[in-house]
Amino acid sequence: MNGKKRLTIIISILAAALLISGYMYFSHNHETVDLPDGVKVIPLEFTNVFLIPLEKGYMLIDNGYAKEYDRFLQGLKHHGVDVMDIGYVFITHHHDDHVGFLNTLTVLNKSVRVIVHETGVPLLAAGENNTKNGGGIVNRAIYALFRLKMLITPTWDFSFPPYRVRKQDIVLKGEKASLPKEVGLSATVLHTPGHSSDSISLIYNDRYLFGGDMASSFLLWAGAKYLTLFNENVGQVYASWEKALSTNIEFILPAHGKPFKAERLKENLHKYSQDDLVAYF
Ligand SMILES: [Zn+2]
Repeated sequence: MNGKKRLTIIISILAAALLISGYMYFSHNHETVDLPDGVKVIPLEFTNVFLIPLEKGYMLIDNGYAKEYDRFLQGLKHHGVDVMDIGYVFITHHHDDHVGFLNTLTVLNKSVRVIVHETGVPLLAAGENNTKNGGGIVNRAIYALFRLKMLITPTWDFSFPPYRVRKQDIVLKGEKASLPKEVGLSATVLHTPGHSSDSISLIYNDRYLFGGDMASSFLLWAGAKYLTLFNENVGQVYASWEKALSTNIEFILPAHGKPFKAERLKENLHKYSQDDLVAYF
């Protein structure tokens, strides 16, 4: 075994031990927030995808990585939901861990309608996470974990099968929008940029916010302070938090980590500035 390989293994073991102990410590101490009635979650490798019941069928919130489609199907089966029962897919933003199997899904279920913000349309078609707006990783510890993940998964390149918005899809515009009546779900959608320019959040039953990556409870023990690990513009993220907090929401259902109370956002506002971010791209 050469030196580099041995070092990689040692680092991986140490990081795994750190991750497990951090996770155990944190999951033990984390608050419990129940999902709203009828809402189902399918936990993928890093991404939680949710199913919201509609008058007819379900709305899916986000996808995982492209390679996770089979795992997603197993999750559907577990909940007794058929892929053809999905009438709508709400995309919180264009990143690889949120839109990976969107193409596969729309090919297999041709009647599904994708809901996306207007700013996401060209980003979905580009087929890779947008790096043109800069930004970075929340802090040095999390940056180190990110590098490690790259080392363990050398094929991870932030790309995804491009998705071209079709005529039947629903493109939301502006800072605040309602879903069209035919969706059968009265929900408000807020444009909540900062993590990415096209990030949107869906307010469900007035109290729950499906926020994608606008906030997260992942790696709190490493100092994430409810930010998702990567952000284009952290000031914009906090402005999005304030926008969300100006509504009646009580709970955040994030794509990464467990659901948490909305007041955590208030407590953690402006804990980081753009200068704290560690440039990644
Ligand atoms: Zn993201």
